[in-house]
Amino acid sequence: MEKRKVYVDNAATTALSDRAFNAMLPYFSNCYANPSAIHEYGLDARAALERSRRIVAKAIGARNNEIFFTSGGTESDNWALRGAAELRSSKGKHIITTSIEHNAVIKTAEVLEKQGYGVTYLPVDKHGMITPEQLSDAIREDTVLISIMMANNEIGTILPIKELCNVAHKRKVLFHTDAVQAVGHIKINVRELGVDMLSMSAHKFQGPKGIGALYVKIGCPIPPIIYGGGQERGSRSGTENVPGAVGMAAAIEEAVAHMEDNSRKIISMRNKLIQGILKIPGSYLTGDPENRLPGNASFAFDGMDKKPITTALSKEGIFASSASACSAGSIKPSRILLATGATESLAYGTLRITLNEHNSEEDIDYLLEVVPLVISKLRIGE
Ligand code: PLP
Repeated sequence: MEKRKVYVDNAATTALSDRAFNAMLPYFSNCYANPSAIHEYGLDARAALERSRRIVAKAIGARNNEIFFTSGGTESDNWALRGAAELRSSKGKHIITTSIEHNAVIKTAEVLEKQGYGVTYLPVDKHGMITPEQLSDAIREDTVLISIMMANNEIGTILPIKELCNVAHKRKVLFHTDAVQAVGHIKINVRELGVDMLSMSAHKFQGPKGIGALYVKIGCPIPPIIYGGGQERGSRSGTENVPGAVGMAAAIEEAVAHMEDNSRKIISMRNKLIQGILKIPGSYLTGDPENRLPGNASFAFDGMDKKPITTALSKEGIFASSASACSAGSIKPSRILLATGATESLAYGTLRITLNEHNSEEDIDYLLEVVPLVISKLRIGE
């Protein structure tokens, strides 16, 4: 009998939805023209691109001309930080971010440090939270940019972006949020949040890989970091990824339309999973128990190594992750867990299970059967 296969690594990436796949197909075959061309085929491609922009904008409450397509979350984060730093460089050279950001933000901040910017990495509490007071205390006269993620990719904590952004704006500081893990999963309205820039990536909500967007509020004219043919109204050069944009739009529209029903189903499965896993001796839930992404069930197992756990689970047909996708194969302790004050003994033994609506109750039952067995076998050295 074929072994059951359970994919629970949806924070790393998701399967392309059928709707997005079908929407993209014509733009690989018949409608392949360059959207900058002024012949009929080019105009068709341009129309598809602009239609996609409108759909993406609507999904987050933005205006069409506030959406710039990029190659994904990493580029959006790089652009937001470097662009905003350059835009405001005459006013000051201090940036605030957090110790739990994705490397797309952390590594960019490190490059800016080498270029003479001062960067404050705000510490988080045991749940991965930052308070508005804490942010307020960190703002200096020369602070020009704050970048705080909306939801953490490893432990799933959702941060209070609206309140944090208010603090930034009271002090006239630009605010960027990396919402790569949040878009398509929790309600987002950029007008209500007030943010100046917001990063997103299609492959995290069942769109294609290699396409994302940066929302840039009107009146925040960040300079480009990619120069060339002047596409995306001069802000992001490079021939536009029309099939990608079409797929992203189809996926975000679908995700937003079904968000409430999907969340209800996913949260109920997640809670059952968390309750079951926490019966394992020496297991801990990581991240905020309340304010967490619907699909995120992340754990630490005291005194264990993460790699053998994911490897053993994979042999049983369970495809989960040890931490974030980029550090999944590393044997270092999770820097996110260390930032939350966890001991090294816990930070080595992480397991991240991330569900979406394609998972089923049977998947959860299978996980609850296999995970405890795998952990106890590894503990006794089998
Ligand atoms: N930011 C966060 C929070 C992420 O989780 C990821 C991807 O894992 C990224 C940025 C990078 O996005 P992309 O894979 O589209 O470059």
